[in-house]
Amino acid sequence: MKYVDCILPLGVEGLLTYSVPEGMEQRVCPFVRLLVPLGKSKTYTALAVRIHDEEPKGVEVKAVIDALDEKPVLLPSQYDIWKWMAEYYICPVGDIYRAAMPAGLKQEDGYRAKTETWIRFTKSYQGAKEQAIAREMVRRAAKQSQVLSVFADLIGENEGVTKEELMNTAHATSAVVKALIDRGILETYEVPVGRLGTGGGCHMERIKPLSEAQTKAYDEVNAAGATPVLLQGVTGSGKTEIYIHLIRDAVKAGKQVLYILPEIALTVQIMQRLQCVFGDEMGIYHSKYSDAERVEIWQKQLSDNPYKIILGARSAVLLPFTDLGLIIIDEEHDPSFKQQDPAPRYHARSVAMMLAKKHGAKVVLGTATPSMESFNNALSGKFRLVQLTERYRGLQLPKIEIVNTADMQRRKMMYGPFSPRLVNAMKSAISDGKQVILFLNRRGFAPIVECRDCGWVPKCENCDVSLTMHKTTGQLTCHYCGYTYTIPKKCPSCFCTDVRDHGYGTEKVEEKLMELFPEVKVARMDLDTTRTKNAHARIIADFSAGKTNVLIGTQMVSKGLDFGNVSVVGIVNADSILNTPDFRAYERGFQMLSQVSGRAGRKEGQGLVILQTKQPDVPVIGQVVRNDYRTFYKTQCEERQMFKYPPFHRLIYVYLRHAKDPVVETAGIEMAGRMRQVFGSRVLGPDRPSVARVKSMNIRKIVLKLEPGIDLPRVRLCLRQIRQIIMQDKRYASLQVYYDVDPQ
Ligand code: ADP
Ligand code: ZN
Ligand code: ZN
Repeated sequence: MKYVDCILPLGVEGLLTYSVPEGMEQRVCPFVRLLVPLGKSKTYTALAVRIHDEEPKGVEVKAVIDALDEKPVLLPSQYDIWKWMAEYYICPVGDIYRAAMPAGLKQEDGYRAKTETWIRFTKSYQGAKEQAIAREMVRRAAKQSQVLSVFADLIGENEGVTKEELMNTAHATSAVVKALIDRGILETYEVPVGRLGTGGGCHMERIKPLSEAQTKAYDEVNAAGATPVLLQGVTGSGKTEIYIHLIRDAVKAGKQVLYILPEIALTVQIMQRLQCVFGDEMGIYHSKYSDAERVEIWQKQLSDNPYKIILGARSAVLLPFTDLGLIIIDEEHDPSFKQQDPAPRYHARSVAMMLAKKHGAKVVLGTATPSMESFNNALSGKFRLVQLTERYRGLQLPKIEIVNTADMQRRKMMYGPFSPRLVNAMKSAISDGKQVILFLNRRGFAPIVECRDCGWVPKCENCDVSLTMHKTTGQLTCHYCGYTYTIPKKCPSCFCTDVRDHGYGTEKVEEKLMELFPEVKVARMDLDTTRTKNAHARIIADFSAGKTNVLIGTQMVSKGLDFGNVSVVGIVNADSILNTPDFRAYERGFQMLSQVSGRAGRKEGQGLVILQTKQPDVPVIGQVVRNDYRTFYKTQCEERQMFKYPPFHRLIYVYLRHAKDPVVETAGIEMAGRMRQVFGSRVLGPDRPSVARVKSMNIRKIVLKLEPGIDLPRVRLCLRQIRQIIMQDKRYASLQVYYDVDPQ
């Protein structure tokens, strides 16, 4: 008897073993999908991993129902990465399977090829003699006769043509074609067509020659050999042009390239820049793509003719690659490379490093504002540091002016969210035919709604957060669970009618701006305006073409975008970035403020940034103004070392979730107690996180701080065991326990 160990798309530890029924042995091979039973009546699409003949002892072994693939759908090298991820992130490998494979490959019949309707002669009319008879039959029906002769011309030696082509060429209606089908002369058949686009109709453009400084950096990248390179280049220094040269080299050498980006908004522009050079050799992979499209890319990467270049977001690191030569991690500092929820909570940068190791590929991490981790690696020699200190063509970095909004408010000089300085800067930019970007990291109309009388604030029923007002939809929305509520006319607590909104979100900034400049064309780019697949592309294209003058947005507008005509960037409220309760708040602040500033003055003239804040004396703001990464890094290091944070200590967060608060409370205390027995004072908590209830689940958090040199494999093993013990405890039924390794 043969047995097969497989992965199920469930968060359960380990592999499950099934027996292979007689007659199916040929078809059950590693990495094909299998239909398997589980429990009383469920079936799952499992992934075969290992075939053997060791009968499992002491458990009932069920039989595989069916094998679903003729060829493996996963490469052995991918499975190695999965195993590494499951181990490193302390999660079941089933979680990785769930995240990595497009849904269409996890369910039987989950994927359907897209088809086109074609037309051909029926069996009875395939010969020349029969076709002559057919022409005779329809002689009196002029339309049908004409369609039939056009059809004969069109197919020539081929079997058929698409129905669309026939109708277009013969100027015929569907009814005429149907008449010929009803007579039994013609018939339809379906032909699968790929969903993947071609190169977007771009002509092949020449690669731009590099400047002297860029050439020097490019040479240094190459000289680093197998050592990963941290390419730290100020915004607008032309990092992307260097990537293009490196990609060309790798493709010329017959290798594949993976280019990952943190933000879909960014892929639009980079995609266009790359497509002009590489055309159809490049595929795109991110979450706005339909599942069917993702299945097709996955399968293309497994075929004999894979894309040479894949441009994608985080999840692209999980695609099949046969011969990867180069990985580019653009905006490497960006927190959205880390997946938060659901599991696996992986960092695409770390997975990419593993992937590169497996393939012997070169890694280039590019950014103007390196993460503390990567810069530390560069200083320690683990990465090679390559720097570009000037903008392309020697353009100056933007001038950053600070406006103290606390002071302005006191003097009643603010116009809504705008200081007079920002209003004037926008006014002169617009009258000079220039464009403006306004950045605010809050979407919606207003972050707070409050009763003026009793102070009542509407909260989400399912989460521990106050609701955001959205004027466009006329609703209050919870940004944690997405639940919406109507805006109350009266306070439900004291029945007064003076319920007002406070503060600014992107919607309200847009409204105030239109009051100020009624003639100006404004676009907004945030989660709410970009829910459809092509929304980003449209907003960016309109702004690029000058159809809009001002672009307002959340972090989506802050990263990597390259518009030549933007002369002013307004940072509406820097405080909402700096005042987050997180040890990385200043790091994020430095990155975000520098990045968004870098959108100004990229083609000519010096850009101007108006940075509004109530706390102009916070050191990090001065560091941003002076573009002083080194001082920023040094001061942060002192803090991180003192409080045992990354990059010096490793962090693992433990989260416990349960519908009942007392359960999660007791379980949290027990979990932390067991952890302390092993890890002592490295364990902090349990604590209530700042948002302690989400989607009706109560949450506790335990923090584990690990010093360098600690035996990490042993730490992980202990954590797996402790979780097992807690999860098996009957008092904690339906408790969720998970780890967040290297949290962001
Ligand atoms: P970064 O990625 O470092 O922010 P980009 O690669 O976007 O910088 O370059 C900024 C601008 O300068 C872009 O519009 C780009 O096309 C232009 N540029 C950079 N290098 C060159 C070059 N060697 N030749 C022509 N244009 C360049
Ligand atoms: Zn009230
Ligand atoms: Zn909620």
